[in-house]
Amino acid sequence: MPDQTVPPASGAPTSGTPTSGPPISGPQGTGAGTPPLKVAILPVTPFQQNCSILWCTATKRAAVVDPGDGVTQIQEFLARQGLTLDRILVTHGHVDHAAAVADLMAATGVPVDGPQREDKFWIDRLPEDGAKYGMLYAKPFTPTRWLDDGDTITVGDLTLDVLHCPGHTPGHVVFIHGPSRLAIVGDVIFQGSIGRTDFPRGDHAALIRSIREKLFPLGDDITFLPGHGEPSTFGQERRGNPFVSDRAVARG
Ligand SMILES: [Zn+2]
Repeated sequence: MPDQTVPPASGAPTSGTPTSGPPISGPQGTGAGTPPLKVAILPVTPFQQNCSILWCTATKRAAVVDPGDGVTQIQEFLARQGLTLDRILVTHGHVDHAAAVADLMAATGVPVDGPQREDKFWIDRLPEDGAKYGMLYAKPFTPTRWLDDGDTITVGDLTLDVLHCPGHTPGHVVFIHGPSRLAIVGDVIFQGSIGRTDFPRGDHAALIRSIREKLFPLGDDITFLPGHGEPSTFGQERRGNPFVSDRAVARG
């Protein structure tokens, strides 16, 4: 679904191709050598949703975040990189993020973590939304674990922190890997934009609070991967995002 709030001055949309680019790593720590976490982005669905595959470089254990489509491509990527899939993570229940969760779960047998329980109504309507957008494979699913604020997720030697960031949807969660200074934020915030809040149970004030009070305090140096478009940093958005920058919030 068209998930971004259209910014006053629109940045160039990403021209994603349905192939995975080279893996990009989170910013490295002080030490040289292989970073502990790597992540690749696979744009899927008519909405060019950034399905991400992240993995622990030490153990080659992986997690797939938001498989809106691409079950075959995901499995080919994992095989090519010699990775073992540990789990599927879901930021929120929108069709472009969650339509292929059931199929990937059936194909791999791995557990599904997330989103937070308040997104159940979105997951339940995946078949209807899928039909509307030509994604006829969309199926509902029951997560192995509903996530909540403060939960942690293990992928190999990596520990991801979970933040509940409602607003775009009521049960939206964000995944953080502190040591890599990396956040996977779904449709909460984008480079130069924020998530739409005109869907059922969207809440603009809650979204602004999620970004300003939960995400930005994590640090300007955090790089985030959004559900659509290019990565950015919290610092860049705190300075220049027309919806949630320091200046935009001060202006009210
Ligand atoms: Zn969304």
